[in-house]
Amino acid sequence: QTLRAIGAIQPTINAYTHVAYEAALNAADAVDQDRKAGRPLPPLAGLPVAIKDVLCTSDMPTTCSSNMLRNFTPPYDATVVAKLKRAGAIVVGKTNMDEFAMGASTETSAMGLTRNPWDEQRTPGGSSGGAAAAVAAGTVPLSIGTDTGGSIRQPAAFCGITGLKPTYGRCSRLGLVAFASSLDQAGPMGWSVDDVAIGLQAMAGYDPADSTSVDHEVPDYQAAIAGRDMKGVRIGVLRDSIDQDGVAPAIRTAVAEAEKVFTDLGAEIVEVSLQHSPYWVPTYYVIAPCEASSNLSRFDGAHYGYRHAAASTEDSIAPMLAKTQPLEAMYRASRANGFGSEVKRRIMVGTYALSEGYYDAYYNQALKVRRLISRDYETAFEDVDVLLGPVTPSPAFGLGENIDDPIAMYLCDLFTVGANLAGVPAISLPAGLDDDGLPVAIQLQAPVMQEARLLAAGA
Ligand code: GLN
Repeated sequence: QTLRAIGAIQPTINAYTHVAYEAALNAADAVDQDRKAGRPLPPLAGLPVAIKDVLCTSDMPTTCSSNMLRNFTPPYDATVVAKLKRAGAIVVGKTNMDEFAMGASTETSAMGLTRNPWDEQRTPGGSSGGAAAAVAAGTVPLSIGTDTGGSIRQPAAFCGITGLKPTYGRCSRLGLVAFASSLDQAGPMGWSVDDVAIGLQAMAGYDPADSTSVDHEVPDYQAAIAGRDMKGVRIGVLRDSIDQDGVAPAIRTAVAEAEKVFTDLGAEIVEVSLQHSPYWVPTYYVIAPCEASSNLSRFDGAHYGYRHAAASTEDSIAPMLAKTQPLEAMYRASRANGFGSEVKRRIMVGTYALSEGYYDAYYNQALKVRRLISRDYETAFEDVDVLLGPVTPSPAFGLGENIDDPIAMYLCDLFTVGANLAGVPAISLPAGLDDDGLPVAIQLQAPVMQEARLLAAGA
């Protein structure tokens, strides 16, 4: 049924970069046999899941939607993928994304763009646009995305599904191809808060092979949802962000309605302002490119991935090659042809900001501001349990609308990058439709390691 659904939507939506038809059928048969034989089944036995193509899979390609890795199949599974498989889930395929997770529309993919199932002329968001569309189109109830600055929450919002970015360190990053190592985090995207809780349960936990994963007990998330009680819970409303110019009326209404729902359930509404939020986007767009430029230096044509036949002369960069030595020419040509333009833009910005003479003015300064941003969250969470606000300034925008305007694209991350800079968990929840019938969402954020609180409040 899943594979048939994928076959039906893939030609128009293009949510997947790879579909594991045979492997999925075999895995499903194996579950059937176990069931018939009365053997005990693991908790997610037979559950079809889709995995963003930035997470390593030993039996499927892992392209990061880049020509650089078009023919790359890793030798191992990412820890979160291995954990899902061990829990019985069937990985049915890999999902499309912005190249190396850099973008907010899935249009920078080298595998073609993904369309929003609600309106095919609009983007599903990004960078986990394929993972969001795969769930929204009904092919799978659960997918795994990654979120460096909003890439789970923004596409979840645009596609009317639920998406959770866990605390930095809650889920292992082993096998997650690094974009910005201090910000990246994998998380579940699903039809409901319950489904996302089930996904997180399987993914979360300490991994001794990832030094940034946190050794902290994983609570029973479904029990937390079942036992929820909003009486006396303090909800901090981020009024500054809601009142900003350019926030769509439908999004303001959604947040106001959520306030009312929480109040009716006995929660207390508190006005909160995160003082340094105007600096979130500038800080993020220094730190993320710096880390990206360093991480992406490993794609040199030598270790793995695309290698340009540097001897070729029928190439736009042939004049440049003529001036360099063969090894350097191979590096240059592999990177020039392997990476798309948004990735190159990030590498240029990051390299610039890290270079001698600029390091203190940009990178070091951004790190200092990041501390202030984290402190804002710590202060806010002394007074409130959960923060409520928007995910995005607007519902899904049109394909092509922002692709030639990097600043406009970066401003999609206005409300999401704070959680990454501070490392706190955040969830995007569907909150109805606007007048055009497009999904609208709200965001909740909680203190580090408080995913259970987030899921309970979300439910
Ligand atoms: N849109 C942001 C960026 O382009 C976030 C991407 C992400 O979370 N992977 O960097």
